[in-house]
Amino acid sequence: MLSEIQHSHPLVYQHFSKIQHGDFWLKRIMELDRYWSQVGNRPAPEVIFDGSTLPKDIEISGEFDAIYAGATLGLLHAAALTDLFGKRVLIIDKYTPAKTHRDWNISLRELQRLDTMGFLKLPETEKAITKTYKTGFVEFAARTAKKRLFIDHVLDCAIDSDVILQLALNKVLARKDNVVLAQTAFKRCWKTDGGVVVEVVREGASQFFKAKVLVDTMGVMSPIAMQLNSENGVVRPQTHICPTVGTLASGLEEIDYDIGEILVSTEPADTSRGSGRQLIWEGFPATDTLFTSYLFFYDRVDSDNDKSLLNLFETYFEKLPTYKKPSDKFHIEKPVFGIIPAYHHDGFGKTRVTADDGIVLFGDAASLSSPLTFCGFGSMVRNLERTTSQLARALSLNATSKTDLDAISAYEPNVAIMSNLMKFMCYDARTDEPNFVNELMNEVMKVLDELPPRFRETMFRDEMSLADFTTLILTVGAKYPKIFPITYQKLGISGSVSWLQNWAGWAVRSLSMVKSLIVAL
Ligand SMILES: Cc1cc2nc3c(=O)[nH]c(=O)nc-3n(C[C@H](O)[C@H](O)[C@H](O)COP(=O)(O)OP(=O)(O)OC[C@H]3O[C@@H](n4cnc5c(N)ncnc54)[C@H](O)[C@@H]3O)c2cc1C
Repeated sequence: MLSEIQHSHPLVYQHFSKIQHGDFWLKRIMELDRYWSQVGNRPAPEVIFDGSTLPKDIEISGEFDAIYAGATLGLLHAAALTDLFGKRVLIIDKYTPAKTHRDWNISLRELQRLDTMGFLKLPETEKAITKTYKTGFVEFAARTAKKRLFIDHVLDCAIDSDVILQLALNKVLARKDNVVLAQTAFKRCWKTDGGVVVEVVREGASQFFKAKVLVDTMGVMSPIAMQLNSENGVVRPQTHICPTVGTLASGLEEIDYDIGEILVSTEPADTSRGSGRQLIWEGFPATDTLFTSYLFFYDRVDSDNDKSLLNLFETYFEKLPTYKKPSDKFHIEKPVFGIIPAYHHDGFGKTRVTADDGIVLFGDAASLSSPLTFCGFGSMVRNLERTTSQLARALSLNATSKTDLDAISAYEPNVAIMSNLMKFMCYDARTDEPNFVNELMNEVMKVLDELPPRFRETMFRDEMSLADFTTLILTVGAKYPKIFPITYQKLGISGSVSWLQNWAGWAVRSLSMVKSLIVAL
Protein backbone atom coordinates (compact mmCIF):
# COMPACT_ATOMS: atom_id res chain seq x y z
CA MET A 1 0.00 0.00 0.00
CA LEU A 2 2.82 2.42 0.86
CA SER A 3 4.25 2.09 -2.65
CA GLU A 4 1.01 3.63 -4.00
CA ILE A 5 1.86 6.97 -2.38
CA GLN A 6 5.58 7.01 -3.17
CA HIS A 7 5.21 9.75 -5.79
CA SER A 8 2.10 11.59 -4.54
CA HIS A 9 3.29 11.84 -0.89
CA PRO A 10 7.07 11.34 -0.95
CA LEU A 11 7.71 12.50 2.65
CA VAL A 12 4.95 10.32 4.12
CA TYR A 13 6.30 7.43 2.07
CA GLN A 14 9.85 8.04 3.28
CA HIS A 15 8.93 8.25 6.98
CA PHE A 16 6.17 5.62 7.08
CA SER A 17 8.46 3.12 5.32
CA LYS A 18 10.62 3.24 8.44
CA ILE A 19 7.74 3.03 10.97
CA GLN A 20 6.69 -0.29 12.41
CA HIS A 21 3.37 -1.30 10.76
CA GLY A 22 3.64 1.66 8.34
CA ASP A 23 1.23 0.01 5.89
CA PHE A 24 -1.38 -0.56 8.62
CA TRP A 25 -1.23 3.08 9.74
CA LEU A 26 -1.56 4.30 6.17
CA LYS A 27 -4.67 2.13 5.77
CA ARG A 28 -6.19 3.66 8.94
CA ILE A 29 -5.44 7.18 7.71
CA MET A 30 -7.02 6.49 4.33
CA GLU A 31 -10.03 4.94 6.04
CA LEU A 32 -10.58 8.15 8.06
CA ASP A 33 -10.14 10.24 4.92
CA ARG A 34 -13.30 8.55 3.59
CA TYR A 35 -15.18 10.80 6.02
CA TRP A 36 -14.94 13.63 3.49
CA SER A 37 -16.82 11.68 0.83
CA GLN A 38 -19.53 10.65 3.32
CA VAL A 39 -20.64 14.07 4.56
CA GLY A 40 -22.44 16.80 2.61
CA ASN A 41 -25.04 16.37 -0.12
CA ARG A 42 -25.33 12.62 -0.32
CA PRO A 43 -27.61 9.86 0.94
CA ALA A 44 -27.23 9.19 4.66
CA PRO A 45 -26.10 5.70 5.62
CA GLU A 46 -29.05 3.52 6.61
CA VAL A 47 -28.10 1.43 9.62
CA ILE A 48 -31.04 1.94 12.02
CA PHE A 49 -34.17 0.02 11.04
CA ASP A 50 -37.62 -0.48 12.43
CA GLY A 51 -38.20 -3.79 14.26
CA SER A 52 -40.90 -4.77 11.73
CA THR A 53 -38.15 -5.36 9.13
CA LEU A 54 -36.10 -7.65 11.37
CA PRO A 55 -35.47 -10.93 9.48
CA LYS A 56 -37.55 -13.71 11.07
CA ASP A 57 -34.97 -16.49 10.84
CA ILE A 58 -32.11 -14.91 12.78
CA GLU A 59 -30.59 -16.47 15.85
CA ILE A 60 -29.74 -14.19 18.83
CA SER A 61 -26.28 -15.17 20.09
CA GLY A 62 -26.51 -13.31 23.41
CA GLU A 63 -28.50 -10.72 25.40
CA PHE A 64 -27.01 -7.84 27.40
CA ASP A 65 -28.00 -4.70 29.23
CA ALA A 66 -25.90 -2.63 26.81
CA ILE A 67 -23.96 -3.27 23.63
CA TYR A 68 -21.09 -0.85 23.02
CA ALA A 69 -20.03 -0.45 19.37
CA GLY A 70 -16.50 1.01 19.51
CA ALA A 71 -13.92 0.15 22.15
CA THR A 72 -11.86 3.28 22.73
CA LEU A 73 -13.76 5.71 24.98
CA GLY A 74 -16.63 3.23 24.78
CA LEU A 75 -14.48 0.85 26.76
CA LEU A 76 -14.03 3.38 29.56
CA HIS A 77 -17.77 4.02 29.68
CA ALA A 78 -18.68 0.34 29.58
CA ALA A 79 -16.14 -0.44 32.31
CA ALA A 80 -17.67 2.16 34.65
CA LEU A 81 -21.20 0.96 33.85
CA THR A 82 -20.39 -2.64 34.65
CA ASP A 83 -18.00 -1.99 37.55
CA LEU A 84 -20.11 0.56 39.42
CA PHE A 85 -23.63 -0.45 38.45
CA GLY A 86 -23.35 -4.16 37.73
CA LYS A 87 -24.71 -3.92 34.20
CA ARG A 88 -23.88 -6.66 31.72
CA VAL A 89 -22.14 -5.43 28.59
CA LEU A 90 -21.01 -6.62 25.17
CA ILE A 91 -18.26 -4.52 23.60
CA ILE A 92 -17.28 -4.84 19.96
CA ASP A 93 -14.58 -3.13 17.95
CA LYS A 94 -13.68 -3.56 14.32
CA TYR A 95 -9.99 -3.37 15.30
CA THR A 96 -8.39 -4.27 18.62
CA PRO A 97 -10.14 -3.03 21.77
CA ALA A 98 -7.99 -0.81 24.02
CA LYS A 99 -5.55 0.06 21.21
CA THR A 100 -5.76 3.55 19.79
CA HIS A 101 -3.88 5.85 17.44
CA ARG A 102 -3.64 8.84 19.74
CA ASP A 103 -2.26 9.59 23.17
CA TRP A 104 -3.97 11.91 25.59
CA ASN A 105 -3.09 14.82 27.78
CA ILE A 106 -5.14 15.73 30.79
CA SER A 107 -4.60 17.47 34.13
CA LEU A 108 -4.09 15.47 37.31
CA ARG A 109 -7.15 16.98 38.95
CA GLU A 110 -9.31 15.88 36.02
CA LEU A 111 -7.86 12.37 36.21
CA GLN A 112 -8.61 12.28 39.94
CA ARG A 113 -12.30 12.28 39.10
CA LEU A 114 -12.04 8.62 38.09
CA ASP A 115 -10.93 7.90 41.64
CA THR A 116 -13.47 10.09 43.44
CA MET A 117 -16.30 8.45 41.50
CA GLY A 118 -15.06 5.12 42.88
CA PHE A 119 -13.97 3.72 39.54
CA LEU A 120 -10.21 3.67 38.76
CA LYS A 121 -8.02 4.39 41.78
CA LEU A 122 -5.43 7.14 41.34
CA PRO A 123 -2.43 4.85 42.00
CA GLU A 124 -3.73 2.69 39.10
CA THR A 125 -4.29 5.55 36.66
CA GLU A 126 -0.97 7.10 37.63
CA LYS A 127 0.64 4.08 35.99
CA ALA A 128 -0.69 5.42 32.68
CA ILE A 129 1.00 8.80 33.19
CA THR A 130 4.21 8.80 31.18
CA LYS A 131 5.26 12.37 31.95
CA THR A 132 4.13 15.42 33.91
CA TYR A 133 5.18 18.98 33.06
CA LYS A 134 5.82 22.01 35.21
CA THR A 135 3.82 24.32 32.97
CA GLY A 136 2.56 24.84 29.42
CA PHE A 137 2.23 27.79 27.05
CA VAL A 138 0.23 29.21 24.17
CA GLU A 139 1.87 31.47 21.59
CA PHE A 140 0.73 32.85 18.22
CA ALA A 141 3.00 34.17 15.48
CA ALA A 142 1.96 37.83 15.75
CA ARG A 143 4.30 40.24 13.94
CA THR A 144 4.87 42.44 16.98
CA ALA A 145 4.89 42.02 20.78
CA LYS A 146 4.34 38.28 20.63
CA LYS A 147 2.80 37.07 23.91
CA ARG A 148 3.85 33.70 25.30
CA LEU A 149 1.10 32.91 27.79
CA PHE A 150 2.11 30.36 30.41
CA ILE A 151 -0.66 28.19 31.85
CA ASP A 152 -0.30 25.83 34.81
CA HIS A 153 -2.37 22.74 35.65
CA VAL A 154 -3.67 22.30 32.10
CA LEU A 155 -3.08 19.12 30.06
CA ASP A 156 0.03 18.63 32.18
CA CYS A 157 -0.09 14.82 32.36
CA ALA A 158 0.79 12.79 29.27
CA ILE A 159 -1.19 9.55 29.30
CA ASP A 160 -0.39 6.34 27.50
CA SER A 161 -3.92 5.79 26.23
CA ASP A 162 -3.44 2.05 25.74
CA VAL A 163 -2.50 1.66 29.41
CA ILE A 164 -5.58 3.43 30.76
CA LEU A 165 -7.79 1.57 28.29
CA GLN A 166 -6.24 -1.73 29.40
CA LEU A 167 -7.26 -0.89 33.00
CA ALA A 168 -10.81 -0.39 31.74
CA LEU A 169 -10.67 -3.64 29.77
CA ASN A 170 -9.56 -5.50 32.91
CA LYS A 171 -12.57 -4.10 34.78
CA VAL A 172 -14.91 -5.30 32.04
CA LEU A 173 -13.37 -8.77 31.89
CA ALA A 174 -13.45 -9.08 35.70
CA ARG A 175 -17.15 -9.81 35.33
CA LYS A 176 -17.44 -13.21 33.70
CA ASP A 177 -20.69 -12.64 31.79
CA ASN A 178 -19.40 -9.56 29.94
CA VAL A 179 -18.11 -10.18 26.42
CA VAL A 180 -15.49 -8.27 24.39
CA LEU A 181 -15.16 -9.04 20.69
CA ALA A 182 -12.23 -7.81 18.61
CA GLN A 183 -12.20 -7.54 14.81
CA THR A 184 -15.98 -7.35 14.97
CA ALA A 185 -17.76 -4.57 13.09
CA PHE A 186 -21.16 -3.03 13.73
CA LYS A 187 -23.28 -3.44 10.60
CA ARG A 188 -26.85 -2.36 11.42
CA CYS A 189 -29.55 -2.53 14.09
CA TRP A 190 -33.28 -2.86 14.56
CA LYS A 191 -35.36 -1.00 17.16
CA THR A 192 -37.80 -3.47 18.70
CA ASP A 193 -40.19 -3.21 21.65
CA GLY A 194 -37.91 -5.26 23.88
CA GLY A 195 -34.69 -3.42 22.97
CA VAL A 196 -32.28 -3.26 20.07
CA VAL A 197 -31.09 -6.15 17.91
CA VAL A 198 -27.60 -5.53 16.56
CA GLU A 199 -26.00 -7.25 13.58
CA VAL A 200 -22.22 -7.49 13.74
CA VAL A 201 -19.77 -8.94 11.24
CA ARG A 202 -16.92 -11.09 12.42
CA GLU A 203 -14.54 -12.92 10.10
CA GLY A 204 -16.98 -12.30 7.25
CA ALA A 205 -19.97 -13.84 9.05
CA SER A 206 -22.96 -12.05 10.60
CA GLN A 207 -24.01 -12.54 14.21
CA PHE A 208 -26.94 -11.00 16.07
CA PHE A 209 -27.05 -9.76 19.66
CA LYS A 210 -29.76 -8.06 21.68
CA ALA A 211 -29.62 -5.38 24.38
CA LYS A 212 -31.82 -2.84 26.10
CA VAL A 213 -29.54 -0.13 24.76
CA LEU A 214 -27.00 0.14 21.95
CA VAL A 215 -24.25 2.60 22.89
CA ASP A 216 -22.63 4.13 19.82
CA THR A 217 -18.99 4.97 20.52
CA MET A 218 -17.75 4.51 16.96
CA GLY A 219 -16.13 7.93 16.77
CA VAL A 220 -16.35 10.56 14.05
CA MET A 221 -17.13 7.99 11.33
CA SER A 222 -20.15 6.58 13.17
CA PRO A 223 -22.81 5.70 10.58
CA ILE A 224 -25.43 5.98 13.35
CA ALA A 225 -24.43 9.60 14.07
CA MET A 226 -24.52 10.30 10.32
CA GLN A 227 -28.01 8.83 9.92
CA LEU A 228 -29.39 10.64 12.97
CA ASN A 229 -27.84 13.97 11.99
CA SER A 230 -28.85 14.22 8.37
CA GLU A 231 -31.71 16.15 6.91
CA ASN A 232 -33.08 16.66 3.41
CA GLY A 233 -30.28 14.67 1.80
CA VAL A 234 -27.51 16.53 3.63
CA VAL A 235 -25.36 14.46 5.98
CA ARG A 236 -24.06 16.91 8.57
CA PRO A 237 -22.97 15.08 11.73
CA GLN A 238 -20.54 17.90 12.59
CA THR A 239 -20.49 21.62 11.82
CA HIS A 240 -16.73 22.02 12.29
CA ILE A 241 -13.78 19.68 12.43
CA CYS A 242 -10.12 19.74 13.26
CA PRO A 243 -7.98 17.49 11.03
CA THR A 244 -4.97 16.53 13.17
CA VAL A 245 -1.80 14.61 12.36
CA GLY A 246 1.51 14.10 14.12
CA THR A 247 4.00 11.71 15.57
CA LEU A 248 5.28 10.34 18.83
CA ALA A 249 8.99 10.59 18.15
CA SER A 250 12.48 10.95 19.58
CA GLY A 251 15.36 12.96 18.18
CA LEU A 252 13.71 16.37 17.80
CA GLU A 253 15.79 19.40 18.73
CA GLU A 254 15.03 22.43 20.94
CA ILE A 255 12.66 20.71 23.33
CA ASP A 256 12.22 21.46 27.00
CA TYR A 257 10.86 18.20 28.38
CA ASP A 258 9.34 19.99 31.36
CA ILE A 259 7.05 22.24 29.32
CA GLY A 260 3.94 21.49 27.27
CA GLU A 261 3.29 23.53 24.12
CA ILE A 262 -0.50 23.78 24.18
CA LEU A 263 -1.03 25.89 21.03
CA VAL A 264 1.74 27.37 18.89
CA SER A 265 1.59 28.95 15.45
CA THR A 266 4.74 29.71 13.52
CA GLU A 267 3.50 31.36 10.33
CA PRO A 268 0.57 33.19 8.70
CA ALA A 269 -2.35 31.26 7.19
CA ASP A 270 -1.48 28.73 4.52
CA THR A 271 -3.43 29.40 1.33
CA SER A 272 -1.79 26.75 -0.81
CA ARG A 273 -4.66 24.25 -0.59
CA GLY A 274 -8.13 25.85 -0.87
CA SER A 275 -9.33 29.11 0.60
CA GLY A 276 -6.94 28.94 3.53
CA ARG A 277 -6.21 27.45 6.89
CA GLN A 278 -4.28 28.61 9.93
CA LEU A 279 -1.95 25.76 10.76
CA ILE A 280 -1.28 25.30 14.47
CA TRP A 281 1.21 23.11 16.30
CA GLU A 282 0.83 21.38 19.61
CA GLY A 283 3.70 19.59 21.35
CA PHE A 284 3.87 17.56 24.52
CA PRO A 285 6.78 15.64 26.00
CA ALA A 286 5.54 12.06 26.28
CA THR A 287 8.57 10.84 28.30
CA ASP A 288 11.99 12.35 28.98
CA THR A 289 13.06 11.47 25.43
CA LEU A 290 9.85 11.18 23.40
CA PHE A 291 7.86 14.16 22.11
CA THR A 292 4.34 14.17 20.68
CA SER A 293 3.88 16.88 18.06
CA TYR A 294 0.66 17.61 16.22
CA LEU A 295 -0.20 19.84 13.28
CA PHE A 296 -3.86 20.80 12.88
CA PHE A 297 -6.28 23.50 11.82
CA TYR A 298 -9.79 24.53 12.81
CA ASP A 299 -12.26 24.57 9.93
CA ARG A 300 -15.89 24.44 8.85
CA VAL A 301 -16.88 20.98 7.73
CA ASP A 302 -18.18 22.44 4.45
CA SER A 303 -15.26 24.76 3.59
CA ASP A 304 -13.40 24.26 0.31
CA ASN A 305 -10.10 23.58 2.09
CA ASP A 306 -8.17 20.39 1.56
CA LYS A 307 -8.81 18.49 4.79
CA SER A 308 -7.30 15.14 3.84
CA LEU A 309 -5.25 13.69 6.70
CA LEU A 310 -2.86 12.08 4.24
CA ASN A 311 -2.14 15.42 2.58
CA LEU A 312 -1.82 17.08 5.99
CA PHE A 313 0.76 14.44 6.96
CA GLU A 314 2.82 15.44 3.91
CA THR A 315 2.59 19.07 5.09
CA TYR A 316 3.52 17.99 8.64
CA PHE A 317 6.79 16.41 7.49
CA GLU A 318 7.48 19.36 5.19
CA LYS A 319 6.99 21.96 7.94
CA LEU A 320 8.22 20.06 11.00
CA PRO A 321 11.71 21.64 10.80
CA THR A 322 10.09 25.09 11.19
CA TYR A 323 8.64 23.95 14.53
CA LYS A 324 11.06 21.36 15.95
CA LYS A 325 14.08 20.42 13.87
CA PRO A 326 14.51 16.64 13.43
CA SER A 327 18.11 15.62 14.21
CA ASP A 328 19.82 12.73 12.44
CA LYS A 329 18.54 10.56 15.33
CA PHE A 330 14.90 11.39 14.52
CA HIS A 331 12.85 8.24 15.06
CA ILE A 332 9.09 7.86 14.89
CA GLU A 333 7.56 5.51 17.46
CA LYS A 334 4.08 5.84 15.98
CA PRO A 335 1.95 8.27 14.01
CA VAL A 336 -1.00 9.97 15.77
CA PHE A 337 -3.94 11.32 13.83
CA GLY A 338 -7.67 11.88 13.66
CA ILE A 339 -10.51 14.07 12.54
CA ILE A 340 -11.58 15.78 15.75
CA PRO A 341 -15.27 16.63 15.58
CA ALA A 342 -17.01 19.82 16.71
CA TYR A 343 -20.60 20.98 16.70
CA HIS A 344 -22.13 24.44 16.96
CA HIS A 345 -25.54 24.21 18.63
CA ASP A 346 -27.71 26.81 16.94
CA GLY A 347 -30.12 27.52 19.81
CA PHE A 348 -30.50 27.79 23.57
CA GLY A 349 -29.38 24.24 24.35
CA LYS A 350 -28.22 21.00 22.76
CA THR A 351 -29.40 20.80 19.16
CA ARG A 352 -27.38 17.82 17.99
CA VAL A 353 -29.16 14.47 17.92
CA THR A 354 -27.37 12.03 20.25
CA ALA A 355 -30.06 9.40 20.77
CA ASP A 356 -32.81 7.34 19.23
CA ASP A 357 -35.14 4.76 20.75
CA GLY A 358 -32.80 2.29 22.46
CA ILE A 359 -29.69 4.03 21.10
CA VAL A 360 -27.39 6.55 22.76
CA LEU A 361 -24.18 8.18 21.52
CA PHE A 362 -21.10 9.07 23.55
CA GLY A 363 -17.52 10.18 22.77
CA ASP A 364 -16.70 11.55 19.32
CA ALA A 365 -19.85 9.93 17.90
CA ALA A 366 -21.80 12.37 20.09
CA SER A 367 -19.45 15.26 19.24
CA LEU A 368 -20.19 17.20 22.43
CA SER A 369 -16.64 17.83 23.61
CA SER A 370 -15.11 21.29 23.46
CA PRO A 371 -14.96 22.75 19.94
CA LEU A 372 -12.04 24.89 21.14
CA THR A 373 -9.77 22.52 23.09
CA PHE A 374 -11.00 19.30 21.46
CA CYS A 375 -10.36 17.30 24.62
CA GLY A 376 -12.68 14.36 23.99
CA PHE A 377 -10.95 12.17 26.54
CA GLY A 378 -11.21 14.97 29.13
CA SER A 379 -14.91 15.39 28.35
CA MET A 380 -15.52 11.65 28.78
CA VAL A 381 -13.69 11.65 32.13
CA ARG A 382 -15.51 14.79 33.36
CA ASN A 383 -18.93 13.42 32.47
CA LEU A 384 -18.37 9.72 33.19
CA GLU A 385 -19.99 9.62 36.61
CA ARG A 386 -23.07 11.51 35.44
CA THR A 387 -23.60 9.68 32.15
CA THR A 388 -23.01 6.17 33.53
CA SER A 389 -25.24 6.67 36.58
CA GLN A 390 -28.00 8.12 34.39
CA LEU A 391 -27.68 5.29 31.89
CA ALA A 392 -27.71 2.67 34.65
CA ARG A 393 -30.89 4.22 36.02
CA ALA A 394 -32.51 4.31 32.58
CA LEU A 395 -31.66 0.62 32.10
CA SER A 396 -33.09 -0.32 35.49
CA LEU A 397 -36.31 1.59 34.80
CA ASN A 398 -36.53 0.46 31.16
CA ALA A 399 -36.65 4.17 30.32
CA THR A 400 -34.88 3.90 26.98
CA SER A 401 -36.97 5.98 24.59
CA LYS A 402 -35.30 8.57 22.40
CA THR A 403 -36.37 11.35 24.79
CA ASP A 404 -35.10 9.46 27.84
CA LEU A 405 -31.72 8.73 26.28
CA ASP A 406 -31.29 12.14 24.65
CA ALA A 407 -31.23 13.61 28.17
CA ILE A 408 -28.17 11.45 28.97
CA SER A 409 -25.26 13.25 27.37
CA ALA A 410 -21.97 15.01 27.96
CA TYR A 411 -23.51 18.32 26.82
CA GLU A 412 -22.23 21.23 28.92
CA PRO A 413 -23.36 24.77 28.00
CA ASN A 414 -20.02 26.28 29.12
CA VAL A 415 -18.24 23.94 26.70
CA ALA A 416 -20.73 24.25 23.84
CA ILE A 417 -20.48 28.06 23.77
CA MET A 418 -16.79 27.78 22.89
CA SER A 419 -17.82 26.98 19.29
CA ASN A 420 -18.37 30.73 18.91
CA LEU A 421 -14.75 31.43 19.88
CA MET A 422 -13.56 28.55 17.72
CA LYS A 423 -15.10 30.25 14.66
CA PHE A 424 -12.51 33.03 15.06
CA MET A 425 -9.79 30.39 14.65
CA CYS A 426 -11.19 29.29 11.27
CA TYR A 427 -9.25 31.33 8.75
CA ASP A 428 -11.18 32.51 5.68
CA ALA A 429 -9.18 34.08 2.84
CA ARG A 430 -12.30 35.87 1.57
CA THR A 431 -12.47 38.07 4.67
CA ASP A 432 -9.22 37.68 6.62
CA GLU A 433 -5.69 39.04 6.31
CA PRO A 434 -3.11 36.21 6.31
CA ASN A 435 -2.13 37.11 9.89
CA PHE A 436 -5.71 37.50 11.10
CA VAL A 437 -5.82 34.53 13.50
CA ASN A 438 -2.33 35.17 14.88
CA GLU A 439 -2.91 38.87 15.59
CA LEU A 440 -6.35 38.32 17.11
CA MET A 441 -5.28 35.42 19.33
CA ASN A 442 -2.20 37.35 20.43
CA GLU A 443 -4.51 40.11 21.69
CA VAL A 444 -6.69 37.57 23.50
CA MET A 445 -3.57 36.07 25.13
CA LYS A 446 -2.57 39.55 26.34
CA VAL A 447 -6.00 40.00 27.92
CA LEU A 448 -5.84 36.56 29.55
CA ASP A 449 -2.39 37.45 30.89
CA GLU A 450 -3.85 40.42 32.74
CA LEU A 451 -6.70 38.43 34.26
CA PRO A 452 -6.16 36.11 37.26
CA PRO A 453 -4.65 32.69 36.28
CA ARG A 454 -7.94 30.85 36.87
CA PHE A 455 -9.36 32.44 33.68
CA ARG A 456 -6.80 30.80 31.39
CA GLU A 457 -6.72 27.58 33.41
CA THR A 458 -10.48 26.99 33.42
CA MET A 459 -10.75 28.05 29.78
CA PHE A 460 -8.24 25.43 28.64
CA ARG A 461 -9.65 22.84 31.06
CA ASP A 462 -13.21 23.33 29.71
CA GLU A 463 -14.42 24.43 33.15
CA MET A 464 -15.07 28.14 32.68
CA SER A 465 -17.89 29.69 34.72
CA LEU A 466 -20.55 31.97 33.25
CA ALA A 467 -19.28 34.95 35.26
CA ASP A 468 -15.66 34.43 34.16
CA PHE A 469 -16.64 33.91 30.51
CA THR A 470 -18.67 37.12 30.56
CA THR A 471 -15.79 39.03 32.21
CA LEU A 472 -13.37 37.68 29.61
CA ILE A 473 -15.51 38.73 26.65
CA LEU A 474 -16.20 42.19 28.13
CA THR A 475 -12.49 42.70 28.88
CA VAL A 476 -11.49 41.69 25.33
CA GLY A 477 -14.13 44.16 24.04
CA ALA A 478 -12.83 46.98 26.24
CA LYS A 479 -9.14 46.42 25.49
CA TYR A 480 -9.48 45.48 21.83
CA PRO A 481 -12.51 47.32 20.33
CA LYS A 482 -11.61 46.01 16.85
CA ILE A 483 -13.24 42.77 18.04
CA PHE A 484 -16.74 44.20 17.37
CA PRO A 485 -16.37 44.68 13.57
CA ILE A 486 -14.42 41.39 13.47
CA THR A 487 -17.28 39.58 15.23
CA TYR A 488 -19.78 41.01 12.78
CA GLN A 489 -17.58 40.00 9.85
CA LYS A 490 -16.86 36.47 11.19
CA LEU A 491 -20.24 35.50 12.61
CA GLY A 492 -22.67 37.79 10.76
CA ILE A 493 -26.05 38.67 12.29
CA SER A 494 -27.33 35.09 12.50
CA GLY A 495 -24.08 33.82 14.02
CA SER A 496 -24.04 36.63 16.58
CA VAL A 497 -27.67 35.94 17.51
CA SER A 498 -26.84 32.25 17.83
CA TRP A 499 -23.97 33.11 20.20
CA LEU A 500 -26.35 35.20 22.34
CA GLN A 501 -28.81 32.28 22.39
CA ASN A 502 -26.02 29.94 23.59
CA TRP A 503 -25.19 32.50 26.28
CA ALA A 504 -28.81 32.89 27.39
CA GLY A 505 -29.29 29.11 27.45
CA TRP A 506 -26.23 28.76 29.66
CA ALA A 507 -27.48 31.54 31.98
CA VAL A 508 -30.91 29.93 32.32
CA ARG A 509 -29.33 26.54 33.04
CA SER A 510 -26.98 28.06 35.63
CA LEU A 511 -29.93 29.80 37.30
CA SER A 512 -31.98 26.61 37.43
CA MET A 513 -29.01 24.77 38.95
CA VAL A 514 -28.68 27.47 41.63
CA LYS A 515 -32.45 27.19 42.30
CA SER A 516 -32.28 23.40 42.66
CA LEU A 517 -29.35 23.80 45.06
CA ILE A 518 -31.31 26.26 47.18
CA VAL A 519 -34.34 23.93 47.19
CA ALA A 520 -32.09 20.98 48.17
CA LEU A 521 -30.67 23.00 51.06
C1 LIG B 1 -4.26 13.30 17.43
C2 LIG B 1 -5.25 13.49 18.52
C3 LIG B 1 -4.85 13.88 19.79
C4 LIG B 1 -5.77 14.04 20.81
N1 LIG B 1 -5.36 14.46 22.04
C5 LIG B 1 -6.25 14.58 23.05
C6 LIG B 1 -5.82 14.97 24.35
O1 LIG B 1 -4.65 15.24 24.57
N2 LIG B 1 -6.74 15.06 25.34
C7 LIG B 1 -8.06 14.78 25.14
O2 LIG B 1 -8.86 14.86 26.06
N3 LIG B 1 -8.51 14.43 23.89
C8 LIG B 1 -7.63 14.31 22.85
N4 LIG B 1 -8.06 13.95 21.61
C9 LIG B 1 -9.47 13.64 21.41
C10 LIG B 1 -9.72 12.18 21.77
O3 LIG B 1 -8.69 11.38 21.27
C11 LIG B 1 -11.02 11.71 21.18
O4 LIG B 1 -12.06 12.52 21.63
C12 LIG B 1 -11.30 10.26 21.56
O5 LIG B 1 -10.32 9.41 21.05
C13 LIG B 1 -12.64 9.82 21.03
O6 LIG B 1 -12.82 8.49 21.37
P1 LIG B 1 -14.04 7.67 20.76
O7 LIG B 1 -13.95 6.34 21.37
O8 LIG B 1 -15.27 8.44 20.88
O9 LIG B 1 -13.71 7.59 19.19
P2 LIG B 1 -12.47 6.90 18.49
O10 LIG B 1 -11.22 7.17 19.24
O11 LIG B 1 -12.53 7.32 17.07
O12 LIG B 1 -12.76 5.37 18.61
C14 LIG B 1 -13.80 4.78 17.89
C15 LIG B 1 -13.68 3.28 18.03
O13 LIG B 1 -14.75 2.70 17.32
C16 LIG B 1 -14.27 1.66 16.50
N5 LIG B 1 -15.18 1.53 15.37
C17 LIG B 1 -15.39 2.41 14.37
N6 LIG B 1 -16.30 1.95 13.52
C18 LIG B 1 -16.70 0.75 13.99
C19 LIG B 1 -17.64 -0.23 13.56
N7 LIG B 1 -18.36 -0.09 12.43
N8 LIG B 1 -17.79 -1.34 14.31
C20 LIG B 1 -17.07 -1.54 15.46
N9 LIG B 1 -16.16 -0.65 15.90
C21 LIG B 1 -15.99 0.48 15.18
C22 LIG B 1 -12.86 2.08 16.12
O14 LIG B 1 -12.04 0.98 15.76
C23 LIG B 1 -12.39 2.75 17.41
O15 LIG B 1 -11.79 1.85 18.31
C24 LIG B 1 -7.14 13.80 20.56
C25 LIG B 1 -7.55 13.41 19.29
C26 LIG B 1 -6.62 13.25 18.28
C27 LIG B 1 -7.08 12.85 16.91
